Amino acid sequence: MGNTKKAMTGTNDLKLPIYLDYQSTTPTDPRVVDAMLPYFFDKPGNPHSRSHGLGREAHDAVEAARTKIASTIGSDAREIIFTSGATESNNLALKGAAQFYGDTKRQIITVATEHKCIIATCQHLASNGYDIVFLPVQMNGLLDLDRLAGKITHNTLLVSIMTAHNEIGVIQQISDIGDLCREHGVLFHTDSAQAVGKIPIDVNAMSIDLMSISGHKLYGPKGIGALYVRRRPRVRLSEQISGGGQERGLRSGTLPTPLCVGLGTACDIAIEELDQEAQRIGDLRDHLYRGISDRLSDVILNGDPVRRLPGNLNLSFAGLDSEEIMSALPDIAISSGSACTSTSIEPSYVIRALGLGEDIARGSLRFGIGRFTTIAEIDYVIERVSTTVLSLRNTRPTTHTATSQVG
Ligand SMILES: *Cc1c(COP(=O)(O)O)cnc(C)c1O
Repeated sequence: MGNTKKAMTGTNDLKLPIYLDYQSTTPTDPRVVDAMLPYFFDKPGNPHSRSHGLGREAHDAVEAARTKIASTIGSDAREIIFTSGATESNNLALKGAAQFYGDTKRQIITVATEHKCIIATCQHLASNGYDIVFLPVQMNGLLDLDRLAGKITHNTLLVSIMTAHNEIGVIQQISDIGDLCREHGVLFHTDSAQAVGKIPIDVNAMSIDLMSISGHKLYGPKGIGALYVRRRPRVRLSEQISGGGQERGLRSGTLPTPLCVGLGTACDIAIEELDQEAQRIGDLRDHLYRGISDRLSDVILNGDPVRRLPGNLNLSFAGLDSEEIMSALPDIAISSGSACTSTSIEPSYVIRALGLGEDIARGSLRFGIGRFTTIAEIDYVIERVSTTVLSLRNTRPTTHTATSQVG
């Protein structure tokens, strides 16, 4: 299927493929690109070279961006460390805290459904003698707070729990988790790559000590992110990248001025438009879910139906594998969350962790809706998904069995 094919649906002609993978990455907002452009050529200064005007201009642009990011999450600008993205932020938070405080406390508690970069960082720490606890989640994808409370000991250094999930969209009870950690003198880190700019976040109201942000999940550029590091009470980290001592010594290297400006602008736009955008995108998501479940039987919604991101819908179609559905829908960019190897298709470890069975885990599809999605696109997707699932099921009428709705 070519990149620029058009679909005629009534009077609307749509550009194909339709992009519904906003949790994987978002297109950069044109307003963000506009704000970045001058810093590639006309304003080339190194933000750390303050001996001349061009350097100071770049420095000021980076600091203005830092202030915008800070105000998006209710923090002070001095608490924002620029990184290359949420993967690096997560590594810095967990390895940095583990190394700094490792002589006194050595246990980290996290959840089985975290992003791979948290899981892999924790496994790395485990191989270096840290005690890592991976908590299970409930069938709706949410953590049971009593279970968390039951695992905290005098040896617990840090709890790391994602704010909003990249695959199933569920939003954890961040304030309550933050309070619990604060009560026990445990650091609380949250990966907010999917949450910042989508739902209201306040690091003080939510008792967050460390928080990871990614630019390309909120219509900013790829290759930039941030780590919020609390100053009062002060959270200490060991640096993971050594060098010229930039970013309060926590992350050396010349800051990419255009990318920093892009992230700041993306945060500004997201906060400005948050309520209105959440409403519009949530309505599109509900329309998609209703449209598909009106036309098809045995559609399972994965993840809590209420505590979830407005732009996320994760469905399993009983009796079908996600791979066969996706390959029949080259005109729609969706994902399964599965990891494919040359010989086998691994079902999503996240859906598997919900305990709904292999069949459901094999059949999960994530529809990610965002800023540039239109109602005409959603109507097209409803029609294409419904007819495709029906015809795939008709080729094997006996394979699917009735399954109850989750939630
Ligand atoms: C995308 C994502 C990451 C990785 O972010 P990068 O900026 O691409 O490194 C980490 N955690 C979550 C929840 C994400 O959605």
